[in-house]
Amino acid sequence: MFEGVYDVVVVGGGHAGAEAAAAASNMGSRTLLVTMNLQTIGQMSCNPAMGGIAKGQIVREIDALGGYSGIVSDESAIQFKMLNQSKGPAMWSPRVQSDRMLFAKKWRDLLEQTQNLDFYQDMIKDIIVNDGKIEGVITSLGIPIRSKSVVLTNGTFLNGRIHIGEKNFGGGRAGEKASTGLTHRLEELGFESGRMKTGTPPRVDGRSLDFSKMEEQPGDPVFGVFSFDNKSSERKQRSCHGSSCTEWFGT
Ligand SMILES: Cc1cc2nc3c(=O)[nH]c(=O)nc-3n(C[C@H](O)[C@H](O)[C@H](O)COP(=O)(O)OP(=O)(O)OC[C@H]3O[C@@H](n4cnc5c(N)ncnc54)[C@H](O)[C@@H]3O)c2cc1C
Repeated sequence: MFEGVYDVVVVGGGHAGAEAAAAASNMGSRTLLVTMNLQTIGQMSCNPAMGGIAKGQIVREIDALGGYSGIVSDESAIQFKMLNQSKGPAMWSPRVQSDRMLFAKKWRDLLEQTQNLDFYQDMIKDIIVNDGKIEGVITSLGIPIRSKSVVLTNGTFLNGRIHIGEKNFGGGRAGEKASTGLTHRLEELGFESGRMKTGTPPRVDGRSLDFSKMEEQPGDPVFGVFSFDNKSSERKQRSCHGSSCTEWFGT
């Protein structure tokens, strides 16, 4: 089904996979992005924010290296804030709140315009290794895809488990199944695996909230940007309210 050998196969179409696929193909590598659901490329898992403490700098570094995260964040931003301005400049951290649907659409648009990049929807279950050298991947349908290198960006999906109250069940994130098979294979190859935890706030219908009872947290007076190619945004900013947008320090 797949002819020839790809230079790079990227497994997973989240932020990391989208950026890896863009980087590889823009450097001239014949690249395939394989992801479990092509509709969720660039999906924001939880808080629809980019940047923040220790991460805003990374988005700008990626931008300086020619990556797309800064551009996508700017084009989908509904609020910009430079966090920690009460401290010294080394502590300042740019952060945007994005329109999550627009964010995913911008990622998809940019990737579709990228040369040398193919897309495929399936779950990667196995890695082909011969004499200690990686030679490709195998999908859940048993289809082998030959490649000189493989980049795994599986996010929270590898043997993922979701806990809600007393209940728990397998899942990559809400409404999406976990990725199985790959962890076992990685362990066979000598990697160690562990379990990490993340958390997410409840989703509430904005129409059911009384915003007048909450503390309004507006964006900066000037709508700042991440990408060095942009100056500032002319769009109108949206405010955060109450504790829904307090600075996020990581899960
Ligand atoms: C509930 C929740 C809350 C979170 N909150 C935050 C937060 O507030 N701030 C923050 O910075 N981070 C948060 N995270 C972490 C979040 O996962 C990362 O910030 C970010 O999404 C990681 O991007 P990624 O590209 O590494 O992985 P992901 O965005 O998780 O993308 C992984 C992609 O790989 C695909 N995939 C996985 N396995 C396979 C396979 N075997 N074959 C093919 N495709 C595969 C999936 O379909 C998905 O498209 C949260 C995560 C969750 C689940």
